Amino acid sequence: MQDWRQILADSFRNGERLLSYLDIPVDKALKAGHPALTFPLLVPRPFADQMVRSDLNDPLLRQVLPIASETYASDLPGYSIDPLGERQTNIRPGIIHKYQGRVLMLAATGCAVNCRYCFRRHFDYADNRLSREERKSALDYIRADASISEVILSGGDPLMLQDTALAELIEAIDEISHVRRIRIHTRLPVVIPQRLTPELQTALSHTRTDNAMVLHVNHPNELTALHAERLRELRSSGVTLLNQSVLLKGVNDDIVILAELSEKLFTMGVLPYYLHLPDKVEGTQHYFVDDKDATALYLGIREQLPGYLVPQLVREVPGDPYKRPHPVLA
Ligand SMILES: *Cc1c(COP(=O)(O)O)cnc(C)c1O
Ligand code: SF4
Repeated sequence: MQDWRQILADSFRNGERLLSYLDIPVDKALKAGHPALTFPLLVPRPFADQMVRSDLNDPLLRQVLPIASETYASDLPGYSIDPLGERQTNIRPGIIHKYQGRVLMLAATGCAVNCRYCFRRHFDYADNRLSREERKSALDYIRADASISEVILSGGDPLMLQDTALAELIEAIDEISHVRRIRIHTRLPVVIPQRLTPELQTALSHTRTDNAMVLHVNHPNELTALHAERLRELRSSGVTLLNQSVLLKGVNDDIVILAELSEKLFTMGVLPYYLHLPDKVEGTQHYFVDDKDATALYLGIREQLPGYLVPQLVREVPGDPYKRPHPVLA
């Protein structure tokens, strides 16, 4: 089994190379220096291998290929570079405490894949690199607030940490007695399933806390036999597996695709959790699905699936005490 760090190091970082690998004319890639490329292309090979060759509209490619429309000024209301107002809630480096009982810890900077729709594309990660001191201060913050019962490891992607560092962090959180749950939000194992190592599994199976992992899969084509194998193993060691997706035009705004995603996840021991309406991030309006279409899609999957395979359709509204359910009348 190839090491995930090696696979990550071998990722595509150049649009022309990725397109040529997929047998797509390379003139479809943006030229170096294009303003969209301030958020550069980054695509691990296992994810590229799940794309359909010669198809510029492949739903996986569409999530990661920089295109010119990212730089067009948005003509839809509400688009901004920090739509969630996280610059205000980010009260100390490495911690976002927005919801009652749960804190989000920015455990690692960077990701294994750069998703073009990402609301963190404008986020200032340089300020959120957790030094030893800051990690200590984040842990002190959690220790000092007994109302915190769940710590969510996020980022960037927390699985960018090496297993030893991650195990240390999990152990430190596990020692805080009022914390009952540790949750990891990650997309890394989706794009590099080899990231689900035995060491990670060990770290998660030796805690007092109950642990969950929330994956971020948007399309059934992202899931392979290797995902099935690794996820089933992780679940057998007691980790609850959930998935969140973002509803994206041209990627998964389709009843058949969404239903298949839920069903496929379930075969791998993963339950659908959230389906997010996209955040209004400047540069991402070509993924926008309007409320009416979102409602129709949602009613469609509800009709086809058992209730436990229907994710909650939500959006994040700054200042709200929880992710706001999309009103679906019917
Ligand atoms: C989404 C989010 C959470 C977790 O919310 P849940 O509804 O518990 O999944 C916690 N903190 C922040 C800042 C979030 O954005
Ligand atoms: S992995 Fe998650 S945080 Fe990273 S770019 Fe993709 S959506 Fe954003």
